[in-house]
Amino acid sequence: MILVRSGVMVPAHDAPTIVNGAAAVSGETITDLGSFDELSARYPAAKVIGGDPFLLIPGLINAHGHGRGLSSFQRGALDNTLESWIWDTRKFKPLSIYDDVSYCAAKLLKSGVTTTMHNHILTGAFPPEQEFDDAIRAYKDAGMRVLFCPGIRNDNPFVYGDNKSFFSSLPPNVQAVLSAPPPLSTEGYFDLVRALHAKHHGPGCHIGFGPVGPQWCTTDLLQQIGRAAKDLGMPVHIHALESVLQKIYGLTALGKTPIAFMHDSGFLGPEVVLAHSVWATEDDIRLLAKSGAGVTHQPSSNLRLRSGIAPIFQMLETGVRVGLGLDGQGINDNDDMIQEMKVCYLLHRLPSLELDSPHMSARDVFKMTTENNAAILGFGQEIGRLEPGRLADMVLLDYEKMCRPFVDPSHDPIDVLLYRGVGEHVHTVMVNGRIVVQGGKLLTIDEEAIAGRLAEAASRPRTEKEKVLVQAMDELKHHVIRYYEGWPEKVKTEPYFMINSRIDGEIQQLFL
Ligand SMILES: [Zn+2]
Repeated sequence: MILVRSGVMVPAHDAPTIVNGAAAVSGETITDLGSFDELSARYPAAKVIGGDPFLLIPGLINAHGHGRGLSSFQRGALDNTLESWIWDTRKFKPLSIYDDVSYCAAKLLKSGVTTTMHNHILTGAFPPEQEFDDAIRAYKDAGMRVLFCPGIRNDNPFVYGDNKSFFSSLPPNVQAVLSAPPPLSTEGYFDLVRALHAKHHGPGCHIGFGPVGPQWCTTDLLQQIGRAAKDLGMPVHIHALESVLQKIYGLTALGKTPIAFMHDSGFLGPEVVLAHSVWATEDDIRLLAKSGAGVTHQPSSNLRLRSGIAPIFQMLETGVRVGLGLDGQGINDNDDMIQEMKVCYLLHRLPSLELDSPHMSARDVFKMTTENNAAILGFGQEIGRLEPGRLADMVLLDYEKMCRPFVDPSHDPIDVLLYRGVGEHVHTVMVNGRIVVQGGKLLTIDEEAIAGRLAEAASRPRTEKEKVLVQAMDELKHHVIRYYEGWPEKVKTEPYFMINSRIDGEIQQLFL
């Protein structure tokens, strides 16, 4: 038995703060919760960790990521619009999947994330089964809980639309680089997902489906995945409506928004989570609420890739289950979940002419990052709150340091966390009853050795073949940019956000 002691404890988003509180942990599970004085009298032989200077909260959850240890920026891609930036990410030199994912897990754990969702986009550098296995092994070795969703795509490889004529318009050197077959067939995909489930599924690792996006999968593939997910009781994680071009493609090629299309194809349901949904319409939001599908919000990623601001306040008010994720594109490029919570909080404090209109609160963001994320990722009642019977995932933060030299004690500790907290305040992290971070140091894997190997692999000179690839991707990017010229004029879209509207008669647009 372990007693995790704290000066202040916030067991859940809707729970009051407990001063001088503690959680009792036996094996993998939380067995008791209350004041430290009561619990230490009840369990005199228990080992005590933590103490007065600490804030105790449930483990944070990252609802969307790709296991990137070195960020895309670190590897050479400067952020730009998704459809342009994506070709810069194809120029990366391959890294060991195990090392890259291990380093990602280290960063997440050290910012208080105990569970992450990993949507694995195949790099093509290794056989698919090896990439998936290495990634899962990395989380297991780091001691982190994961929902692992192998990615699959089988449509629109280069642009949204007629890929045959686009491909034939490309110069031969670009065509030559793009002619490699996809790393995984759809038949092989279903077999692999089933095999991964049989091999790895357990409390520390759930397996789900990861169709990469509705514009990148045929309707047939989406429907097959939808049916398999329902049969097997497995979650589905899909990017959707991340960019305005995806919305325009839906409206012009499919005759409806991608969310309406997925709904009408019978794909949307409570087991499905949509990453982003930046460009959802009000009708889309109602369909999401009706279907029970979840949405994960990645505010920094959407800012960095110039996607926009997802209308998540409207979604939450309509009853959509919304969570929060990093997408490997956090505001400070370091996968700090606490900073991401802060970005979410600030971004959705919408301007208003009424002085006390509804707006995002710190507790709302805390709920998204704990209980909502647990629910939409399929961990339900297992995690997301400190509560007897739930799995023991929790974080002690150095609250004294966060408040130094003084913060008025009238503030809610979650407000203090969002205003003043950063990942570096994380002191101790427990996952499944096991202490994996102590004194801000990761205990499970050799983070420095991994970082050294990654730096070495990333800094080696490019081979001649890699130089040819870089040249082809640069050329391809220009062709893609030209392909989409004029698209924004195809559809009239009105934004939800008009942060600084003109004063001459457009102030009503604040309330779109
Ligand atoms: Zn993503």
